[in-house]
Amino acid sequence: MTFERPLPASLSPSRLQDFQSCPRKFQHASIDRIPQPATKATALGRFVHYVLEQVFKLDNAQRGDHQVGAYLNDAVANILTDDVRTDLGLTEVTTSSFVAEGERIAKNYFTMEDATARQVEGVEQRLNVEIDGVPLVGILDRLDREDDGSLTIVDYKTGRLPNVNYLSSTFANTELYAAMCEAALGETPKQIRLLYVGAGEAIERPVTEVVVGARRKAAVNAWSSINNYYAEGGFPARPSANSCRFCAYKPLCRASGVAVPG
Ligand code: SF4
Repeated sequence: MTFERPLPASLSPSRLQDFQSCPRKFQHASIDRIPQPATKATALGRFVHYVLEQVFKLDNAQRGDHQVGAYLNDAVANILTDDVRTDLGLTEVTTSSFVAEGERIAKNYFTMEDATARQVEGVEQRLNVEIDGVPLVGILDRLDREDDGSLTIVDYKTGRLPNVNYLSSTFANTELYAAMCEAALGETPKQIRLLYVGAGEAIERPVTEVVVGARRKAAVNAWSSINNYYAEGGFPARPSANSCRFCAYKPLCRASGVAVPG
């Protein structure tokens, strides 16, 4: 088989993670471009990210939970588009409870750290780099400058805290972002903070050269495999309980005979 569409010009860390979890998922999302319906989790995540982005564009002294309410209507207009409302089946009543939940989570962030004291170098900062021949693109939630002069990658998470057994994969995206910062800015962040704003807990991890090197190498290997599968005309399905659980392509896979669990 030959694909009608070209390979994407660049890869985001999350699309790379799609590939690493299941090559067929990557094919459907990034080459076939089959839309994935919004879920409550993805919409809520985007809603909270939008609100916090606006608050962090304010001067330090103005940041606080009292600002959250001012951005809710904009967040509704930008995130709860007609398509998203249809996907989620939102009514007037459920929209109100969705917005209330988004507001609660966004406000909860301000119980986790003093936003007025954070020195922010970038908000929703776009990185577009090539690392060892791999074209990578992505948007960082936040890049902070610490008092000791080092950089911290800050990533908001609106889902549940991860199982301790999966911490390595939880940090995989942001560790690749550290490699992207190194390539784009000439400076490697020293630490990563994952802010689980719904739960009000943060998980931190230092960034080491070993980790950055390993993420770079994994990206190179994945990009090489992607090009090979593309040339061969097909990406294998790799069903597993973890990969398939939240995958939008389950019906497609089942229809083509893939043994999708669950
Ligand atoms: S349903 Fe499972 S096997 Fe199919 S694309 Fe998704 S993750 Fe891969």
